[in-house]
Amino acid sequence: MILGATGSIGTQTLDVVRRLGPGRAQIVALSARQNVALLVSQAREFGAAYVAVTDAAWGPHLEATLAGSGVIAGWGDDPLTRLASLPDADTVVVAVAGAAGLAATLAACRSGKRVCIATKEVLVAAGALVMKTAHENGAEILPIDSEHSAIFQCIQGCAPGDIARLHLTASGGPFRTWTRDQIEAATPADALKHPTWTMGGKITIDSATLMNKGLEVIEAHWLFGVPLESIGVVVHPQSVVHSFVEMRDGALLAQLGLPDMRLPIQIALTHPDKQDTDLPRLKPSEIGSLTFEEPDEDRFPALGLARRAGMAGGVAPAVLNAANEAAVGGFLEGRTDFGGICRLVAAALDAHGDDSDGKTLEAILAADKKARAFVTQRIETA
Ligand code: MG
Repeated sequence: MILGATGSIGTQTLDVVRRLGPGRAQIVALSARQNVALLVSQAREFGAAYVAVTDAAWGPHLEATLAGSGVIAGWGDDPLTRLASLPDADTVVVAVAGAAGLAATLAACRSGKRVCIATKEVLVAAGALVMKTAHENGAEILPIDSEHSAIFQCIQGCAPGDIARLHLTASGGPFRTWTRDQIEAATPADALKHPTWTMGGKITIDSATLMNKGLEVIEAHWLFGVPLESIGVVVHPQSVVHSFVEMRDGALLAQLGLPDMRLPIQIALTHPDKQDTDLPRLKPSEIGSLTFEEPDEDRFPALGLARRAGMAGGVAPAVLNAANEAAVGGFLEGRTDFGGICRLVAAALDAHGDDSDGKTLEAILAADKKARAFVTQRIETA
């Protein structure tokens, strides 16, 4: 099952499923926000029994398009949670944009499924709750994020205490060499030009602010149980080394590859089995020179903001995430400047970062809503 089937990760997941073939992976259900045409064509190709749209306005159109096909169409009140609870599927790929996948992820965990998470916002906003729910119900949480997939591959066979540090690699984004003033005034068109990866709009802006890496530090903390202070970031413009794991004995392990999300997707789907791929391969003799440098937290304050929210715990990471989603939305609509994204997130953390303890879904969703409203109101009155 793929939640967010028509987006960048969703379509690449279907490409992996197509290559694996029906003997190894079958699609039970697919969802999209509102791209009915693509969703219906995917459902037909892969024989999905259920499809859903989260933008209910498109529900009647979806149902009319599928009339007589036998495919069950859903929309309305939280269709993702209903899909994620279906007993017919054993694996759920969560690839919806932003924190919208939170309730569905928890439902998939309660059903004891394998949950392959591309939507890192879910683990940022509610990592403690998601990991606890997964543990209690025998669900597996596997990463689709390339850095976390790299770490996951490196630590197979390790005891948790064997890991001393994680070093997440970051491309540095399109503004790696820009001055602070240039970055402040960057336009959406500038920020959407990612140097090494082709991705959805929100994550591409997060890569330009480095908030993506800040969110990934929190994501890695929950996935691998490593303390936040033992998770570092290193800028690596070539995006060939997908992350490092430093072992307690000092060995530094890494996974290398060309930037193509279909490999981490396949690894999450087929683990612990390995299957062939016909993806382009990295040849050691053609790697050339790889460079690594410290991130500049003055020019990229998002890293410090994420660390601050992660250390504060409770609802602070949910506030960070929601404020960032709202601020990135405002930036893409031309309503705030690029430098404003981190200023809005910092202001939201100051105002709401310690509102409550963040142990329940209700507390997290309330903090999320408040932070979005706070940022939207700031943008409107600026
Ligand atoms: Mg990543």
